[in-house]
Amino acid sequence: MAITRNTMQRQLVLDSVRSMHTHPSAEEVYDVVVERDSRISKGTVYRNLGLLSQMGQIKKIPMPGTLADRYDFNLSPHHHAICRKCGKIVDVYAQDMARQVRFDEDFSVEQVDLVFTGLCSDCVETGKTRE
Ligand SMILES: [Zn+2]
Ligand SMILES: [Zn+2]
Repeated sequence: MAITRNTMQRQLVLDSVRSMHTHPSAEEVYDVVVERDSRISKGTVYRNLGLLSQMGQIKKIPMPGTLADRYDFNLSPHHHAICRKCGKIVDVYAQDMARQVRFDEDFSVEQVDLVFTGLCSDCVETGKTRE
């Protein structure tokens, strides 16, 4: 029985991430999941997010500094740009990024996760009107 409940919870977490196209943090995923299953705990949601990214069903986006990691339903190879003001995440597509950079030593690249930091178009606009 425990397996059934576990599988259901994992599916619920997966469905929730897939329904959110905003690169949610674990906290934001929990907020959505708990609306569909009020008995689910935060720990369960966090654990399943970890499991699902290990299984390759979703992608974990490690964030720089103290920012909370985000999760992505979009498994196609891409990078991210994060707005330092509102936290919005924009997808970045760059083909063969590893070929365009120079490594100081021989290095066999398996995965590239780039995070650009800056201002999204909304925040650039707000900054302009204040000046
Ligand atoms: Zn912004
Ligand atoms: Zn993305």
